[in-house]
Amino acid sequence: MQIEGRKILVLGAGRSGTASARFAAERGGTVALHDKKAVEEWSDEARSLKTSHNVGLMSGQIPSWLLDQIDLVIISPGIPANSVPARYVDRKDGEVIGEVELAFRFLKGRMIGITGSNGKTTTTTLVGEILKDAGMDVLVGGNIGTPLLDLVSLAKEDTWVVTELSSFQLETIVDLRPRIAACLNVTPNHMDRYDLFSDYAAAKHRIFMNQADEDLAVLNADDAVTSKWAEGLKAHVTFFSVKKELDEGSFLRGNELVCRAEGSEKVLANRNDILLRGLHNVENVLAAFAISLACGVSPDSMRETVRNFKGVEHRMEFVAKINDVSFYNDSKATSVDAALKALEALSESDGKTVLLLGGRGKNAPYAPLIPLIGSTVRALVVYGEDGDNIAEQLKGTSEIIRAGSMTEAVKFAAEAAEPGDKVLLAPACASFDMFKSFEERGDSFRKAVTDLTEAEAVSGRG
Ligand code: ADP
Repeated sequence: MQIEGRKILVLGAGRSGTASARFAAERGGTVALHDKKAVEEWSDEARSLKTSHNVGLMSGQIPSWLLDQIDLVIISPGIPANSVPARYVDRKDGEVIGEVELAFRFLKGRMIGITGSNGKTTTTTLVGEILKDAGMDVLVGGNIGTPLLDLVSLAKEDTWVVTELSSFQLETIVDLRPRIAACLNVTPNHMDRYDLFSDYAAAKHRIFMNQADEDLAVLNADDAVTSKWAEGLKAHVTFFSVKKELDEGSFLRGNELVCRAEGSEKVLANRNDILLRGLHNVENVLAAFAISLACGVSPDSMRETVRNFKGVEHRMEFVAKINDVSFYNDSKATSVDAALKALEALSESDGKTVLLLGGRGKNAPYAPLIPLIGSTVRALVVYGEDGDNIAEQLKGTSEIIRAGSMTEAVKFAAEAAEPGDKVLLAPACASFDMFKSFEERGDSFRKAVTDLTEAEAVSGRG
């Protein structure tokens, strides 16, 4: 792909846009970086591109003369593809691609792409660990940690590039083709950005669109959407399931994780080997195993990695036990389905759960939580922008307590909990009404819990 001499507009000055602008400028493009936020509010890294790489920095309305001159738009995943100005799109000769597409065009090595509504980061991280422990050359990035573009200079021909891909990133791919692609599940999420659930599912399906018959597609047999996707895919398909035995694929039978292929089967691991809580994490492990087997990793090696894999921060992270109440941080449960899985995971052990829900809603109904709330929840603590809406939708299911801050939410939850209970932050909402990110929200929860511990210690001494 030719970058040199082209006039390029990068939309979005976040991490992905900053990486794109730097990359394009380093390859001889004339680059403008745009964000709707004022330039003074951008990160130092983005602003420094002006002097270090001669990148033009702009905010506000994009002038028409610029749209008439540029010949490539690189769009960040946070910006919907349909928000590229019509004046440019209507020109027909103008190309629009996302950062991951740009990276793919320059990337050496073999790509593993992982998407899904939930479980992407956990599965991507685990695959990275499994391949690394098996002695393979591996890089991990995409929607997680390092932008894919930043891996371009590091990847070699035999590198496995394990890439987490969001539906937003997949909207703007053109040629991107993972050798191995997995879709873990498709459940309502981001319905603030998509008009229809089918549009969201279609974005995820794009991960398979450029695959050829020598490639592999990994699908969840238990998911209502992905279970129907095998037909029509060019790639060889393998399924995983925690609910049923499969003729071909990876599945949970009793406590054993089994792989069956061409009539013979092998036990890959035992459920007790998995440190992560919840059946949804067994799904993630099965998907990771299916991918890793295709890369040539031995079952013994995979099992060893899983036995040591403690998961990723802010995903069902155990924080502390105070007065026989255990506190869990699942701040990354930003959708109703993820919150449901977290609640399900805790309901496998004794005691009830006090559940913290709230934040910026995603316009998805909270009703799927109702059955489990009835059987496992002691109280709900709601907070944030969507708190009232949540309280309204879940009225009558359990005691509902309103809190004005995370500190208050944790305090009220601790008061409502009884010995043997669990307190779970699995908000089912985005964090942006009160926090910069889900990480900051999780940190705030952890701090509130730690403060409680200290307060307890003081009162204990007194
Ligand atoms: P993603 O990167 O897709 O957001 P994560 O691995 O970060 O996924 O997990 C996000 C949240 O989703 C977790 O906190 C957990 O509660 C839930 N979760 C993880 N794996 C799954 C799964 N396979 N199915 C449903 N929910 C899941």
